[in-house]
Amino acid sequence: MYDITMRNRVLVMLDQGLTLSEVSRRTGVSRYAIREWRLRVEQGRDLYVGGPRDCPRCAELPRPPDPPGAYSHLLGLYLGDGCISPVGDPAKSVWALRVICANAWPGLMQECADSIRAVRPENKIRFIPREGCTEVNSHSKHWTCLFPQHGPGMKHTRKIELAGWQQEIVDEFSEEFVRGLLHSDGWRGTNRVRRKLKDGDHWYEYPRYNFTNVSSDIQRLFTDALDRLGIPWTQMNRKNISIAKRDAVARLDEFVGPKH
Ligand SMILES: [Zn+2]
Repeated sequence: MYDITMRNRVLVMLDQGLTLSEVSRRTGVSRYAIREWRLRVEQGRDLYVGGPRDCPRCAELPRPPDPPGAYSHLLGLYLGDGCISPVGDPAKSVWALRVICANAWPGLMQECADSIRAVRPENKIRFIPREGCTEVNSHSKHWTCLFPQHGPGMKHTRKIELAGWQQEIVDEFSEEFVRGLLHSDGWRGTNRVRRKLKDGDHWYEYPRYNFTNVSSDIQRLFTDALDRLGIPWTQMNRKNISIAKRDAVARLDEFVGPKH
């Protein structure tokens, strides 16, 4: 399956006066395919029609990935603690998306797989056992189109910015994004505090959320989403964002919840 760039390149070569055989020899595209593409253009048909296998970002008219809620969740998982790395021969440009999920929460692992399946229905999903956790892994040529934040080195060593189309999705699906980030890089736990009262010391327990990420850009994406949702947060230290106010925790519990 040749993409639109290759098809256009072939047609430009024909326009420049190269013969069908010459173009075929130079590009490796069969003469049959070239004739077919030329005919499509002559007949005013689309040069390239994307089917379900195709990537929305590689389409002739790039569009946002679908469904946006699952994409927003997956983006949160990826930016939190996921990674994209090349598989096999680099010339084939196949990428693995890997998200590490704790075995203690099989529901979250399944949800991660569901979001991958929703965004790339044709790509196989593997569950690779690791120590105390499972790597949810899926290969595609298009992870880097869908997550242009991919680059050399660790995420915190480079600038992480969302593309315009990603920002639009995240703005609209902020809850899914926060859920992905917290499930990947967050923690919901209990704080115990001792208060002195007249009748003696009392212990109070209250739940809170914590998000840990060394990238200040990713922290910012997280807190911007919380701001949009009207959820107050506190920067605890360089790596940690805390959500501890009772109403804020209750609000997060509505769509993140204790891990289960
Ligand atoms: Zn693509």
